[in-house]
Amino acid sequence: MIDFSYKALPWNIIFGVGAVARLPAELDQLGCRRALVLSTPAQSGDGRKIVERLEGRAAGLFDQAKMHVPVDTVRSAVAAARRLTADCVVSVGGGSTTGLGKALVLELGLPNIAVPTSYAGSEMTNIWGRTENKRKTTGRDDAVVPTLTLYDPALTLTMPADFAAASGLNAMAHAVANVAAADANPIVSALALEAIGALARSLPVVVSDPDNMEARAQALYGACLAGASLGSGSTGLHHRLCHALGGAFNTPHAETHAILLPHSVACSAQFAPEAARRIAQALGAAAAAEGLFELARNLGMVAALKDLGVRPTDLDEVAARAMEGPLNAPEPLSRERVRALLENAYQGRAPQPV
Ligand code: NAD
Repeated sequence: MIDFSYKALPWNIIFGVGAVARLPAELDQLGCRRALVLSTPAQSGDGRKIVERLEGRAAGLFDQAKMHVPVDTVRSAVAAARRLTADCVVSVGGGSTTGLGKALVLELGLPNIAVPTSYAGSEMTNIWGRTENKRKTTGRDDAVVPTLTLYDPALTLTMPADFAAASGLNAMAHAVANVAAADANPIVSALALEAIGALARSLPVVVSDPDNMEARAQALYGACLAGASLGSGSTGLHHRLCHALGGAFNTPHAETHAILLPHSVACSAQFAPEAARRIAQALGAAAAAEGLFELARNLGMVAALKDLGVRPTDLDEVAARAMEGPLNAPEPLSRERVRALLENAYQGRAPQPV
């Protein structure tokens, strides 16, 4: 029997090759004249190009966005926004930069325009996060959904193939979690299944033929829908493990997702077989966990947590943290089950039920 609840988020999206050219006119429509452009140090050049494109509508560039939104970075960015009397924020980059934009919205209440350049999908969610003392805190607040998101597949062409693969599998994790979630609902699942198909078809082409704009556009579209499913859906054990690892040991976010995902799915599939069947079908694979493992291998991803510098003793801490607080997951959880899952991911084994 169909039985669900669904609350839409206030998404406002422009998607297409060349969409970034509309940024100045869109700022004018919003009545914004002094944008603070955000980027990471690595994408400072992209940030400067946006400043130039804004032709006098930019107050400045803050190019110190960092992975997992450290509170010190937020404080520095808030100080820059106040000093420059910014009246809006334009975040150009991956999830780290979008995350800083969200943190500024919470601090300053400014309009927030996202220009995503990776497949993180944060711009489609109401989830904010920040890290202090090695611990990542997250929460949900509709205020952090960007006022406008400009998706321009051309901006993703500079993503190196290995990062595109990892980031794409990060998006895949968002979608998979929302087919498998214990309270999955049909609208969110429809978004998630469409995302899984688009990502599974496009990511191998993005890696083998990086200049293929059609594949880049399909992958970004998949990432957008994956973010939408995360934003209007939920997360389970998989995301909790990724955040525990990232917060405590600073493992790279996208790679951590990519490694853990087949193992998380192997664990949940035994308790949610119908969700696993639909994921496999969307992937075009015989089984969900094996299909995801195979896809990651085809994309040339590192397969083992030990390759990210994680130590065996770290797994005990992550398993302990994973048990903190209630969890929306189809699988009955125990510390032993989680530790066994982590061990398989640590060793880079083929996924298996735990
Ligand atoms: P990232 O934003 O840290 O990017 C990694 C590196 O790649 C950075 O140096 C970045 O500048 C660079 N980069 C990004 N796009 C590029 C491009 N097109 N060309 C060249 N370089 C590029 O990594 P990410 O995986 O995009 O995001 C990870 C972060 O996002 C994590 O902190 C994660 O927790 C967060 N996240 C949050 C949500 C949410 O809903 N709040 C969702 C997904 C991810």
